[in-house]
Amino acid sequence: MADRIFKGCEFMMTEVDCSEVFTPENFTDEQKQIGETTEQFLLNEVLPNLEEFEAQNFELLTEKLREGGELGLLMLDVPEEFGGLELDKATSMLVAEKMAPSGAFGVAFLAHTGIGSLPLIYYGNNEQKERYLEKLMTGEWLGAFALTEPEAGSDALSARTTATLSDDGKYYILNGTKQFITNAGFANLFTVFAKVDKEHFTGFLVDVDAEGVEVGPEEKKMGIKGSSTCQLILNNAKIPVENLLGEVGKGHKIALNVLNVGRFKLGAICAGYVKFALAEGASYANVRKQFNVPIGSFGAIKEKLADVAAGSYATESVVYRLAGLLDAKISKIDKGVDDYYAQYQKAIEEYAAECAIAKVYCSEKNRDIIDEVLQIHGGYGFISEYPIERMYRDERIQRIYEGTNEINRLLIPGTLIRKGLQGGLPLQESMANAVKEVMSPVVEDVCSCKLFAEEKALLARLKTISLAMIGAGAQKYQKKLQSEQEILLAVADMMIQVFALEAVVLRAEKDHSNASAVRKQNLEAVVKVCAFDVADNLNRAARKVAAFVAGETEIETYMNGIDKLGRYSAVGLLDAKRTLAAAALENEKYFF
Ligand SMILES: Cc1cc2nc3c(=O)[nH]c(=O)nc-3n(C[C@H](O)[C@H](O)[C@H](O)COP(=O)(O)OP(=O)(O)OC[C@H]3O[C@@H](n4cnc5c(N)ncnc54)[C@H](O)[C@@H]3O)c2cc1C
Repeated sequence: MADRIFKGCEFMMTEVDCSEVFTPENFTDEQKQIGETTEQFLLNEVLPNLEEFEAQNFELLTEKLREGGELGLLMLDVPEEFGGLELDKATSMLVAEKMAPSGAFGVAFLAHTGIGSLPLIYYGNNEQKERYLEKLMTGEWLGAFALTEPEAGSDALSARTTATLSDDGKYYILNGTKQFITNAGFANLFTVFAKVDKEHFTGFLVDVDAEGVEVGPEEKKMGIKGSSTCQLILNNAKIPVENLLGEVGKGHKIALNVLNVGRFKLGAICAGYVKFALAEGASYANVRKQFNVPIGSFGAIKEKLADVAAGSYATESVVYRLAGLLDAKISKIDKGVDDYYAQYQKAIEEYAAECAIAKVYCSEKNRDIIDEVLQIHGGYGFISEYPIERMYRDERIQRIYEGTNEINRLLIPGTLIRKGLQGGLPLQESMANAVKEVMSPVVEDVCSCKLFAEEKALLARLKTISLAMIGAGAQKYQKKLQSEQEILLAVADMMIQVFALEAVVLRAEKDHSNASAVRKQNLEAVVKVCAFDVADNLNRAARKVAAFVAGETEIETYMNGIDKLGRYSAVGLLDAKRTLAAAALENEKYFF
């Protein structure tokens, strides 16, 4: 059972055992040690310099990146044969998560190690790797990823930048402008996408010192102010043919696959953000007094802290569940095969929907949590002396880059439907059964003697509702469903909620038997709070789909089915919230 390799989106129509999910409690000593190294580096070298970074002291920022390189933090994904550590995804997510409190430094770090270096690692040939990888993994050189253009944002493949082979066949001549490029102000190597002969979308490794390459001025931004964001201007840029990345016309594969990785790492950094926010909110609630008592003694503040704590647990559970899926699949690939990285890409692509789920879920939890923690600070949350003010501005971008949340949402049901049509998943059959169940809903009694039995039964019913609503959409729109965005977005919401609740319940179940009495209580509380939240969100999305697709004769039946199957009694919710709030106030940090 523990060795089962899941198909992407399979979670929607299969029961998963708790032994089959990876959780932070499963970290090895080596993984924990890398997490601790990152944390120490952050505490000693990064956080004391935050103000300098915010003021765009790029000299200091790049020096600290290099210091991170000396500790091995820039070589986590680099293959061993090129001197790197080649660690699993769980470790690189842990490092991303630990970087979160560093704000713009973390942005630069992740852009360099992620989208800045991975195209070369995954798609470069040996000669290109020999030439650049060592420089990148030590931090001697820094990397950036140049996909977006002024006229080509979400529609990145409509790029206008062109690449034309020179008469002597030695160079590609690149012309065009890339927009909003992170790290551009100090990067040495850019992965640039351009159309060969105005047609074939292709990746290139562009050295900033190449003739015809220019970096524009810094954008003035709302948040992540300490990061560098500029245009990259290519004016008859002479790029040696040896710097073509992968194959002509295959640039879309590079761009899309690297973005999948960017998305799950962004999920991880959001998980780190919310933990940091929890610590800020809880410690402030203990020291701030009004009406002669700490504000943390008010139910209004306790409830916020409880929701923040539950959200922190949920984001972490989502991120590492995904890490486990990816690592399990990648570990099955034989390292000796010639097309190792092609298979590696396929493994990541398999979970494109789950990567998008992690990105959307974690970035939106991040939004809600940071907003609530700012509210806990009252007027002081609005003042820049308090870290939450910066976090409030910094988090906004998470919902825009690495594909906007709308684009990511559309990808989630799109992937499920595609897998269903291609026969990889029994979607038709599952949808048909689910529609029947919603039309004649039966809620079976569950024995409360079994741990989380009620929540697991709820989860199964929520999957049924979600599949039924996709089925209802498919019945009405057939293949055209793929272009009915309002419906797809609501379906995405349901899938996101299912994945998140399952991650939470299975993690808590797996951890429960060995947990201390206090931890058991916290686990039971967090499951209850998350299940209530998920049922609420999912039911709303399902009702929306019903209202979008059903006619007058069916609407009542659908609404009735959703109400019955989506119901979660949540008896003891108030106690559960107070348990989490008390733990947050006592620990003043993430406590799971
Ligand atoms: C600070 C910052 C750093 C960045 N770093 C990088 C980087 O390092 N490299 C890089 O290449 N890019 C980078 N970007 C660009 C970023 O990825 C894009 O801004 C993003 O992909 C959205 O593109 P856009 O801004 O052109 O918005 P648009 O694509 O114009 O979107 C506008 C709105 O329309 C919606 N929309 C667009 N198309 C659709 C559709 N088909 N269906 C439904 N809704 C749609 C979007 O969701 C959005 O709400 C960065 C951006 C910023 C602000």
